[in-house]
Amino acid sequence: MVSPYLQISKTFFERLKDAAAKSVEIKIIYGKDELKPNERNSLAELKNLELYYFENLHAKCYFNETEMVITSMNMYEFSEKNNREMGVHITKEKDAGIFEKAVAETHSIIQSSELIGLAKTKRNFSPIAKDVKSNGQGKKPKRGYCIRCEERIPYDMGPYCLNCFSVWSQYENPEYEESVCHGCGEFEVTSMEKPLCYDCYKQFGK
Ligand SMILES: [Zn+2]
Ligand SMILES: [Zn+2]
Repeated sequence: MVSPYLQISKTFFERLKDAAAKSVEIKIIYGKDELKPNERNSLAELKNLELYYFENLHAKCYFNETEMVITSMNMYEFSEKNNREMGVHITKEKDAGIFEKAVAETHSIIQSSELIGLAKTKRNFSPIAKDVKSNGQGKKPKRGYCIRCEERIPYDMGPYCLNCFSVWSQYENPEYEESVCHGCGEFEVTSMEKPLCYDCYKQFGK
């Protein structure tokens, strides 16, 4: 998968997990923003996954052994839901020449890319511990995380950043599943209704 912008949403991660479980070798090349700790930790769980970084990447191309899509679309949930994109579907059987050239170009990009190590990282800051120490047990933290994009946001202004909130508010589904805890930023199934992991819920209540 060649995608400058990369966002590991819950659904996307589950599909990668299914593929990895079937021993599919997955290679992802990206080139823009850094991955969030949760995304990195999720990818680290997958066997047979190689992640490459190439700064000047602009191509978007997705393929397996037999089929390929060359497209304008990044592997990014926002693009999937909001942008008008186009792409061409190519099969190795019908378009062998184009297919092989695109595969060769991808290998050439990989040659110039940096292989990203995916050892699990632990957050080196702990907003809960800090806030609990300075404010006393159970006091809510000043800053939390957007439960969709993991951006740091004021804790008291709801569990979404402004951008994600405006997307969420088009549907206003309080149970829509997100993947980040509003309190500690760790990977957790959350929602507008239940934005906290169990530990944060125990500490801060609602
Ligand atoms: Zn957000
Ligand atoms: Zn939490």
